[in-house]
Parts: sequence; structure tokens; C-alpha cells
Amino acid sequence: MSSTIAPTGLLIAGEWLQTSARMPVIDPATGSSIADISNASVADGIDAVTSAHDAFQSWGATPARVRAEILRKAFEIMSAELETCALLISLENGKARRDAMGEATYAAEFFRWFSEEASRIEGGFRYAPARDKTIITDHRPMGVAYMITPWNFPAAMATRKLAPALAAGCTAVLKPAGETPLTALWIGDVLQRAGVPAGVVNIITTSTSGAVSSAILADPRVATLSFTGSTYVGKMLLVQTAERVLPSSMELGGNAPFLVLEGADVDEAIAGAMIAKMRNGGAACTAANRFYIHESVTEEFTSKLEGAFAALKIGPASDHANDLGAMVSVKERDKIHELLEEAAGEGAVLSASSKAPTEGAFIAPYVVRGVEHGSVLTRNEIFGPVAPIVTFSDQADAVRMANDTEYGLISYVFAKDAGAGIKVARQMESGMVAINRGLASDPAAPFGGMKESGLGREGGFAGIHEFLETQYFAVDL
Ligand code: NAP
Repeated sequence: MSSTIAPTGLLIAGEWLQTSARMPVIDPATGSSIADISNASVADGIDAVTSAHDAFQSWGATPARVRAEILRKAFEIMSAELETCALLISLENGKARRDAMGEATYAAEFFRWFSEEASRIEGGFRYAPARDKTIITDHRPMGVAYMITPWNFPAAMATRKLAPALAAGCTAVLKPAGETPLTALWIGDVLQRAGVPAGVVNIITTSTSGAVSSAILADPRVATLSFTGSTYVGKMLLVQTAERVLPSSMELGGNAPFLVLEGADVDEAIAGAMIAKMRNGGAACTAANRFYIHESVTEEFTSKLEGAFAALKIGPASDHANDLGAMVSVKERDKIHELLEEAAGEGAVLSASSKAPTEGAFIAPYVVRGVEHGSVLTRNEIFGPVAPIVTFSDQADAVRMANDTEYGLISYVFAKDAGAGIKVARQMESGMVAINRGLASDPAAPFGGMKESGLGREGGFAGIHEFLETQYFAVDL
């Protein structure tokens, strides 16, 4: 069904190329194949680079206003076709329909935001302190950008890279995750319909990501890498980009702490937790991974969270009333079960308040009591609907535990008021802090992490600069 609404070829030089090598796309809710798509070789990857490199000369010189209008058109097409986008996302990723619609809307917004940013790329003029020289700064597009995206947000992670790159005047080679290529291919079709010239956006799908990416990163015509995925793969890629001193933007893993401080409104915290934990079934780099709850409200918070989990409807996205869909694959679901087994072995108390369908990659949500800071669930990115609860009595101790991780993407702080929350937020070692709310992602805000959660920022005013070089002209006027 999906192959009739999304292309199945590689997008190179404006053409959809079918390869003889194929790869299946699986619906994790049923385990069945929903499409048979092209499987790029190393040579196909290099062809995509050639195409992007050829197109760069004219795209980089295209007036920003024209680039902006094409991106705006892409926003309009995507906004009119959110249902199609959401259908594709749910089919290949498994996430609930409402999560898929939320993602489709969020993804389209990157086209709108960066259509607005395209014509606002600033230069600079100022005098040196002695006023004997002038300093002129200019920004220009880097060139060919290689983009690698993960499976958990197949649309938004693609548009969060493509939109700023195109706005900046760069051309792109995008490689989506093997599990979720159809949404990216559909976005390629949207961009073509919006008027993106041939070769400006190239999309390759492959079952040999390592070999294809290594060859692309070694190609001197590639000017920058923009990666979203695990810290493990990000580090491997950084080793490769170091060889060429290639600029690298990295949006990596997270291990977000969720703090409920003394005096916080518990119902507000539960509402925030349901978003921070359950959006995308917990498969988000921003997902609340560890809950540190003040002892005065631990029991109330935990029992209310169990109640909220029990009320969730679990099942395929085809039933729009379901709140929690399938995990992306049986393999990913089993990883979560393994973490839960290890936690139980450590003495944690697992309570699944509902039952998941037995067919397909479903998992019931779990609240886990009796968790110690430093145990398996607090150390690992769970990437599923599991909420480990740790009790604290001293706020300074809670901040210390929250920061006790190599990750630093986002933290959630629930406090008695925004002022108290910001005071604690300033102590958090994370690129983003959500205060008294369960969601921070916004195309107009700088998204990114500290520590091993990444390098650089996407979205906001910063996002376009990941694709721009700064050049300084020393000149006497
Ligand atoms: P992943 O295993 O790191 O894969 C991400 C991408 O890298 C996929 O396209 C994958 O392709 C590719 N890849 C894998 N091995 C590669 C290699 N040796 N060389 C080049 N590319 C390679 O991550 P994932 O499981 O898809 O996504 C989940 C992770 O992404 C989590 O850690 C999550 O926190 C993180 N994430 C971070 C953000 C953020 O903004 N910080 C946002 C979303 C997700 P294949 O599919 O073909 O293997």
C-alpha cells in the first residue's frame, strides 16, 4: 500500500532510480512487508554526491528569496498532505496515529521556519577597536551536505536538516534509517513538487549504511555531515570526519532526567510526564528516562502515573483511538524487555498496568518502583514506555544525580513556580531544560545537547549556521 503513495527508488539528479538490489520495509505492527525499495551501493552513493555537487553551483547562487519561496511551497504541500505523511510514519515506524500527526505537523514547520530564515542570513560590518580598519563578515553556503537520520522521527529529522541546508544554499544527500525510508522518500517527492531543482536534494536508501557513508564522507566534494542518531554511531562517524576535518553536526542520544521538586504541582507533573515519557511511545531522544521525585510526593506521583499508564490504549496506529503504537521493530522491543529483566534482577519492582497485543512489536508501559540511582534503567537510554522512579529528599542531591550521566540533551524540572524552576534549570548540564512542561521541541528554538548528546544546534536561529561558512574580509574603506 505504501509503495503506491511513496516513491521506492533512489532520488539522484532529479530522477527516481530503481536498483536491482532491493530491501524490504516492514510494518512493525504486523511484521509484514509494506514496500520493496531500492538498495543503494557505494557507487550509487557517490553518484548522489556528484549530483549534489553539480547542482550546488546554481543553487548556492540562487537568490535567497527564491529558495525561501520554494521552501514555503514545500510547507504548504506538506501541510495539505499531513494525513499521508502521518500514514507513512505510522506504517513504517509503528507509532500511534496522534504521534504521527504531531510529527508530520512539526516536520512541516521546519520548512516554514527556514523559508523565513533563508532571506535573513546576516552579514556584519564593524570597526576594529582602534577604528583604523573595518571588519566585514559574510556567510556563504558550505556546499554538499551529507545527512543521516534515525528511525524514531522519520519526517522531522529529515526536514530539520533539509530545510536549513536548502535555506542556506547547500545541496543535500540524505540517507534515512533502514527501518523508515518511505517517509523520507515521500518528502523528496514533496520537495520536487515544490520546485526544488534536480540534484539539489538526493536521497539514498541502503542496507549497507557503513560502507556507503564511509565512501561519501571520504569524498572531498562533501562539505559537511549532519547526523542524528545514537552516540555510539555518532562517535564512529566523528572518527571518520576527523580524517578530513569535516564540519560535523551531531544530534545524539539522551538520558533525560525528570525532576519533581518539593512544592511542585503533582497533577501538572503527571500531565508533563505523560508527554515527556509517552510521546512517540518513549522512543525519543528527548524522552524522560529517569524520574527523580521528592519524597513528599513520591507515592502520589507514582500511583497517579500508574493510573495514567493504565488508561492508555495500546494497539496498531490503524485504530486512531490507540495512544501507544508498536515499537519500530521486534529487536527494539526486545532490548527494552532485556533492560526490564536486568532491572528486576537488581530488585526493582515492575508494574505493567495494561496488556500489549501479542502479535507485532508492542510493549505495555511500565512504571518501575524501587529504583536506585546508578542502576541499569538510570544508566541506559531506554527508548520505550518505561518510567523508573527514584526518590530523593535533598534537592542538591537530585541535581547531582540528574547530571550524573555522560548525556546532556534535555532535562525536565517541575517546581513550585517558574522562578524556582529556572534556578534549578541553570544547574542542569543539558542543552535544553523544560520547566513545568513536558515538551521543549520547537522549530524556532535551538535544539541540541551538551556532553555526549551532541555538537551544534538544529532549528531556531542557530540551525542555518550549521550549513554556512563564516568569511571575514579585512578591508580599509
Ligand atoms: P543509530 O543506530 O545510530 O542510526 C542512526 C542512523 O545512522 C541510521 O540512518 C543508520 O542507518 C545510520 N548508521 C548506523 N550505522 C552507521 C554507520 N556505521 N555509518 C553510517 N551510518 C550508520 O540510531 P537509531 O537507532 O536509528 O536512532 C535512535 C538514536 O537516535 C537514539 O540514541 C536517539 O537518542 C537518537 N536521536 C537523537 C536525536 C537528537 O536530536 N539528539 C533525535 C532523534 C534520535 P541504518 O538504519 O541503515 O543502520
